[in-house]
Amino acid sequence: MPIKCMKCNRDAIIFQKYSGMHLCKKHFIEDVERKIKLTIRKQYNVEKGDIIAVALSGGKDSVVLLHVLHKIFSKRRDVELVAITIDEGIEGYREDTLRKARELTSELGVRHIVRSFKDEYGKTLDELTAQERELGACSYCGVLRKSLMNKIANEIGANKLATGHNLDDEAQTVMMNHLGGDVERMIRLSPPRALEGLVLRAKPLRKVPEKEVALYAIVNELPFDMSECPYAHEALRGEVRDMINEFEVKHPGTKYSILRGFDKVVGILGKEFPQAELTDCRICGEPCTADLCQACKLLGRS
Ligand code: SF4
Ligand code: ZN
Repeated sequence: MPIKCMKCNRDAIIFQKYSGMHLCKKHFIEDVERKIKLTIRKQYNVEKGDIIAVALSGGKDSVVLLHVLHKIFSKRRDVELVAITIDEGIEGYREDTLRKARELTSELGVRHIVRSFKDEYGKTLDELTAQERELGACSYCGVLRKSLMNKIANEIGANKLATGHNLDDEAQTVMMNHLGGDVERMIRLSPPRALEGLVLRAKPLRKVPEKEVALYAIVNELPFDMSECPYAHEALRGEVRDMINEFEVKHPGTKYSILRGFDKVVGILGKEFPQAELTDCRICGEPCTADLCQACKLLGRS
């Protein structure tokens, strides 16, 4: 006998160990969307006239993010969504995710901006990493993508930049910073407000476990690409992910506890660590704390 949903009499498609709930498709979808709406209401305060830039890679997280934001805001004429995809230039990987991103934005009728590292920085990520072996691809990719995202978000007048980080991503990042003893960095990573030139980052999926993001994409038949980036092997994150997953199995709710604890610490210590003063990078004009921004430093500009 199939197990029944605890909110109705339909067959359950998921058991949430952390909540003790069996849910059917309808109630699972409602639950995911409720968590996202609550996060947006509590943390990101969307207002009349907002332009929300949505980082869309074409993977499951960003596809679910855009789908749900569109579901919530498409009826509001005073809020605009604009999807941004960065083509880093990763052969054999980015082409497919880009196709999925295009498929979704045209299906939803959402404006879509695609920009590449090649056009912006003169080189693809593959070329950059082939030439400079000191740092891993992810160091270049992360810094340059963040910088370009912020630049485009500013260009289109966006006042929020939403990314698809899920609960697992967030819990891993918190733990990694703990393991590195980097409390200050952790606090600074979550500015509660926009800083001059730096568009406020929003992570509406931060309360949704990764597995549920994937299931949500599947049951809604969203177009997403499942391939993994060939450079994805950040060792520490992998170890931390396995450790947290093991804890989650033994102690359901661990991921939520890690995030809750972090949010409390930010609430208390946020005042102790005043946000850094930002200036414009001497070369590219993007906001930074020093004379040159991280992106320009990495690119060897001087
Ligand atoms: Fe970029 Fe690394 Fe992510 Fe690949 S795994 S997209 S190189 S940050
Ligand atoms: Zn710069």
